Amino acid sequence: MSPFQLLLSVLATSLLLVGCSRDEQDAPAPLADLLLTNAKVYTMDAERTWAEAVAIRDGRIIFVGSSADAKQHTGSATKVVDLGQKMLLPSFQDVHIHPISGGLAYLSCTLFDEPDLDAALAKIARCVADNPDAKAIVGAGWGWGMFIGEATPDKKLLDAIDSSRPLIFGDGDGHTLWVNSAALALAGVTKDTPDPEGGEIGREEGSSEPSGTLLEGPGMDLMWNSLPATTLEQKEQGLLYAQRYLHSLGITAIQDAMAFLADGDEAGDLDTYRSLQEKDQLKLRVRAAIYWDPAKGLAQIEAIKAASKEFSKGRLQATSVKFWADGILETHTARLLEPYTDKPDALGLLMVPLEDMMAAVPLLDAAGFQIHIHAIGDGTVRYALDAIEKARETNGVRDARPLIAHTQLVHPDDIGRFVELQTIATFSPYWAISDDYTAVINPPQLGEERMKTMYPIAEVLATGARVAFGSDWSVSTADPLMGIETAVSHLDPDGSTAPVFMPEQRISLDAAIAGYTIDAAFTNFLDADTGSVEVGKYADLVILSDNLFDIPTAQISEAKVLATLLEGELVYGEY
Ligand SMILES: [Zn+2]
Repeated sequence: MSPFQLLLSVLATSLLLVGCSRDEQDAPAPLADLLLTNAKVYTMDAERTWAEAVAIRDGRIIFVGSSADAKQHTGSATKVVDLGQKMLLPSFQDVHIHPISGGLAYLSCTLFDEPDLDAALAKIARCVADNPDAKAIVGAGWGWGMFIGEATPDKKLLDAIDSSRPLIFGDGDGHTLWVNSAALALAGVTKDTPDPEGGEIGREEGSSEPSGTLLEGPGMDLMWNSLPATTLEQKEQGLLYAQRYLHSLGITAIQDAMAFLADGDEAGDLDTYRSLQEKDQLKLRVRAAIYWDPAKGLAQIEAIKAASKEFSKGRLQATSVKFWADGILETHTARLLEPYTDKPDALGLLMVPLEDMMAAVPLLDAAGFQIHIHAIGDGTVRYALDAIEKARETNGVRDARPLIAHTQLVHPDDIGRFVELQTIATFSPYWAISDDYTAVINPPQLGEERMKTMYPIAEVLATGARVAFGSDWSVSTADPLMGIETAVSHLDPDGSTAPVFMPEQRISLDAAIAGYTIDAAFTNFLDADTGSVEVGKYADLVILSDNLFDIPTAQISEAKVLATLLEGELVYGEY
């Protein structure tokens, strides 16, 4: 800027300021519907300003500042709430979550809260006894941590509970089904059934006899395709369950990480959101990442475009596409650059053929879609970045905001590519602790060197790249306070005595909050309207019992969500 230009811009700014203050003197301050006052407001604006009061009118924020100055917005119809020094934040957002399937899982025979295998088997037996007339018992939520040692998710364990009808149990990660013999029979899976492309049928040691697991999407589809379709009504119930749960955690905006289009009798996820929105029951901002079906190849792009156009309206924006590109480490299905240490013939799986992803990503980017790629292994992370790079080379640089989800293993050569390619690295910070997975299951799979490349949250942040957080619920808790605490501490919030996991990858409290607010809003293309407490934005807010900066880190997850507001409307709690 030349001195002359500088002078001009200073003049312009001061004119603007004069103009503003004159306006304010002339026009009376607009009256608020709701005034939240005497609070600790951490605004998450660019300067990280603290404030005391927020005034709201017609669902939008009209004032942020001191409690004294806020009084000018008070009229006879204004509801004034004294928050007694409680903390007020922009409400939380989640950039990778499965609300509909998660809600349905919690409405089924749920094993998420069972601490070990014995408890899970007891719960399954209770579900079997409680539902004598059900044609099949379906549930979800077991974990690989239940099978450390001798036991495996074997059909015989389930046959011993009930062999007369199918028992079908998804793992908490959503990558594996554990089923009994009747379920395998229903799915037509025998020792002669070949593994489907991109999936696997678990086999008994030294034989091709199915053992009772079906791995990854194509493997699990063998089972799902032989069950009755999920109806729209059931999906709505699942979504409403999830919505209540998310509100109770202070969340008002999400990215649905895998929105399925309607398929035959199976109700679509976008139809589910639309249906609730039409009934005025959708109290979440939803960015839906439409599922890329690996079986359909490039031919599905037209259907994705059409669905995006048809369904994107109001709070539902179906403008991302999700590539479920690999599996998970625990089953050796995450795709690595070098073979698994304990299985030297295995590199893991790519669920989407690489050439399809390299071709589809530029085409979808050109059509304006946000690219959302599930990548766990360092191989998949690299291929995802390659595809995003190719889109930029082909289409030029635009405000595309591609994101990689989970980002579990990142080869050191790829760390700098996130900022270079303006790609958002998203993590589930709750996973970056020392637990059965990272302390027991993963080290022999990866070896010492590769373990050090796990969840490089601080390292990616330090390059200047943007980081945002997603819970992957129902894989793990969607509680942002749990996530914030673990991002800062790398310790189990439930107070286990395990050592700090990868201490150098811990981040500041401010950065952790940003990952669930302003940077999540950026990721969800909602930052113009949400993600910070600023004049003009929606009054999407959360009120917490404690100022997170004033309490020990280990107590962050014990702070209570007292109230959640969406556009000034109380959707959870009370003042
Ligand atoms: Zn997911």
